[in-house]
Amino acid sequence: MDIVKLKAYAKINLGLDVIKKREDGYHEVRMIMQTIGLYDKISINTTNHPSIKVKTNLHYLPTDKNNLVYKAAALMKETFQIKAGVYIHLEKRIPVAAGMAGGSADAATTLYGMNRLFHLNLKTEELLKLAVQIGADVPYCILRGTALSEGIGEILTPLPPFPACYVLIVKPNINVSTKFVYENLHLDTVTNHPDIDGIMKHIKEQDLYGASKLFGNVLETVTEKEYHIITDKKNKMLENGAIVSLMSGSGPTVFGLFDNVKTAEKAFYEFKVSSLGKQVYLTNLFQPNTKQSI
Ligand code: ATP
Repeated sequence: MDIVKLKAYAKINLGLDVIKKREDGYHEVRMIMQTIGLYDKISINTTNHPSIKVKTNLHYLPTDKNNLVYKAAALMKETFQIKAGVYIHLEKRIPVAAGMAGGSADAATTLYGMNRLFHLNLKTEELLKLAVQIGADVPYCILRGTALSEGIGEILTPLPPFPACYVLIVKPNINVSTKFVYENLHLDTVTNHPDIDGIMKHIKEQDLYGASKLFGNVLETVTEKEYHIITDKKNKMLENGAIVSLMSGSGPTVFGLFDNVKTAEKAFYEFKVSSLGKQVYLTNLFQPNTKQSI
């Protein structure tokens, strides 16, 4: 029996702009994506029985075809006529339904893992084509690192790595539905769009402070209005020395960037002891092709 053990890394959005709502209902976006060091652990075993079996540490997650890990494995089995079955163990550490693309990262990692396990020798380009069949954020989770994401999320342009810094992640104890956020986004009333081109220019110049000043997420106009706890957390991060603080994706996760490890650690403990932050993590940026890579 063969096995692969992999890490599926979460993302944050350094910039998130929505350009328009398309006729098919999808929103066209421009986002600066960044992978961070927080990850789920995935192990995939081959089995003699042809089925796909998923086990996870979170009892409330589906383990059938509604889990993105299952969907990814099924797509690979069907596309490449793989007869053997797989047993997938998923250890969730990335907050669920939090705007961190945890499920998409798991799906991307499963595609990558199946490619390795069954010696399919698929190139990144081929994995990207499979990834988009599962979800708009999945191709980015194959690519990872710092990237511009356009279209509905599937058009990717790799960017130079964002300057190194520390990332504090706080997931408030509330549930935000991505569907609700997009349905309540009224683009005609949004006056403050993030300067995505400006952020990219500063990234190219490796200017952490210049880029951070331009961060923005139009979805905050919906989520923050509904949940003031998000504003509280952003303010608390800034009071504790973050260079910048923003909501990731459709929320409710808030992140802060720090240029100094001591300040970041102090802020981390501050959130840990306060009742505000239920899930709190201190990590750094992740760039592929470093020793952290899967
Ligand atoms: P995004 O940033 O792409 O909006 P998210 O962080 O908001 O993603 P996820 O954690 O990826 O959301 O998952 C959202 C929903 O998908 C959950 O409610 C869960 O039931 C379902 N789901 C299916 N597979 C997974 C998985 N492997 N991990 C987490 N959630 C999963």
